[in-house]
Amino acid sequence: MLAYTYMERGKFALRNKPVPVVQDPHDAVVRVTLASICTSDLHIKHGSVPRAVPGVTVGHEMVGVVEQVGAAVTAVRPGDRVTVNVETFCGRCFFCEHGYVNNCIDPNGGWALGCRIDGGQAEYVRVPYADQGLNVIPDGVSDREALFVGDVLATGFWAARIAEIKPEDTVLILGAGPTGICTLLCARLRGPGRVIVCEPDPVRRRFVEERYPEVLTVTPEQAPDFVRRYSRHGGADAVLEVAGTADSFRLAWECARPNAVVTVVALYDAPQMLPLPDMYGKNLTFKTGGVDGCDCAEILRLIAAGRLDTTPLITHIFPLCEIDAAYDLFEHRRDNVVKVAVTTEG
Ligand SMILES: [Zn+2]
Ligand SMILES: [Zn+2]
Repeated sequence: MLAYTYMERGKFALRNKPVPVVQDPHDAVVRVTLASICTSDLHIKHGSVPRAVPGVTVGHEMVGVVEQVGAAVTAVRPGDRVTVNVETFCGRCFFCEHGYVNNCIDPNGGWALGCRIDGGQAEYVRVPYADQGLNVIPDGVSDREALFVGDVLATGFWAARIAEIKPEDTVLILGAGPTGICTLLCARLRGPGRVIVCEPDPVRRRFVEERYPEVLTVTPEQAPDFVRRYSRHGGADAVLEVAGTADSFRLAWECARPNAVVTVVALYDAPQMLPLPDMYGKNLTFKTGGVDGCDCAEILRLIAAGRLDTTPLITHIFPLCEIDAAYDLFEHRRDNVVKVAVTTEG
């Protein structure tokens, strides 16, 4: 089968590999129908994910059809259409039982697919702990609608969930990339009074303005004044930082009103500084978190009910055999790309 492979620093290539088989009773093998390219894949390509193993098939955001299951798998059967969770987790340890699946203590847990073990930019993928890692896609929900459930949408959902958003709140979201938009869609489900998205890229701002006209957009330079003007208490009641730059980190606490909750799910290249003297008396609550894919079933229910739609994010679709071109477009952000899907079917 075709599998997009991390060859060495700076180089991915399409290779022929054997179709994976069940290795453990908890495994399932999934025939991938639609996969996507994530910014984290680029981080692997550029060598900034030290855990990534050369030779591994990349890709950790995909949907497909269960082909084969191990003897201990009970939640899915061959023929089921499923989303694949970016996290591998045991479902039994303290952290899994509390929904913190990102912190699963299993030695094989965490971000394994497409990093430490073969992932889904391929025709087939083996998924360990399939009862936890797979969610059945409800009838009536398409592959395109379900594509982001296991990664960027799970991240946005988690961010919005821990952000303590209340009705009437002014919510500030920093960053309008794919995860920022997923965060925006999930934050809106909490019924805030107003949502402001801060984003330097005019193309990304326009994407938000055109599709979500009730959302206000602003550049980082104008954000502090703008947020104050559109907030009832001198700053945002809830801030969600998804952008991951030094600028966006500073804006996150600067634009928050006193006693606000600042949720940081962004990934940074470098440590960030909290200048506590400047913030003294502001009494902020900071929450941090990476993707925690514990709500995939609920996310799928919201999609089925028509309350969440991430299909506008799929701006381009390529067949797997043209995945080099798909990466080139995504990496260089050509043609107003937001997300690229890769299909194995016709
Ligand atoms: Zn990802
Ligand atoms: Zn666990």
